Amino acid sequence: MDIAHLPRRSFLRGAAGLAVAGAAGLVLPRAAQAATEPRIYSCAEWGARPPADALTTLDHPADRILIHHIASANSTDYSLAHAFQVARDDQHDHIDNNGWSDTGQHFTVSRGGYRLEGRHGSLEALRGRTTMIQGAHCPGQNTNAIGIENEGLYTSVEPPRLQWESLVVFCAYICRQYGIPVEEIKGHRDFYNTECPGDKLYAKLPQLRSEVAKALV
Ligand SMILES: [Zn+2]
Repeated sequence: MDIAHLPRRSFLRGAAGLAVAGAAGLVLPRAAQAATEPRIYSCAEWGARPPADALTTLDHPADRILIHHIASANSTDYSLAHAFQVARDDQHDHIDNNGWSDTGQHFTVSRGGYRLEGRHGSLEALRGRTTMIQGAHCPGQNTNAIGIENEGLYTSVEPPRLQWESLVVFCAYICRQYGIPVEEIKGHRDFYNTECPGDKLYAKLPQLRSEVAKALV
């Protein structure tokens, strides 16, 4: 059977629950709402370059999420155009300066709360649920962990609310798609000698796990 046509696990799990949606009182199955994909801008949408080398598709789902910060300026430009520019700058940096095949991380969240695909193929793999693209965001974790880079530097300040709320929604979707337990949302520094994702964002990871858990109910 084509895996793409199988019902989502969340639909099966939540089929008994009903929720009232919106002022019109439209009743939708809770699970139908839960399965909705949040808006994620693809590589094609933000104008990515083609990868410099062939990427590797791994024949298994991801089992962890690693949270990063880009350690870039804490811009107050919260526009979509700026988010696209961040994604392009990051890709150029990773290919031209690091010599990598493509953007290292699978996904990026801008300070304005826009969610973007990083490495080519990551979004399609996430939708399909059974494969992942090998990343380049943390040695030893690139074949099992989804990397999310957050625009900004969080050593002494916390991420803005829009970015935080977007990250919660994004992590919940990734956890649901791949069946990742919230306990496996970790920081880059948990697996590598780095200050990433910054003391302030790292300190919020327990809260992130808690909010994602609530979003998955
Ligand atoms: Zn990192």
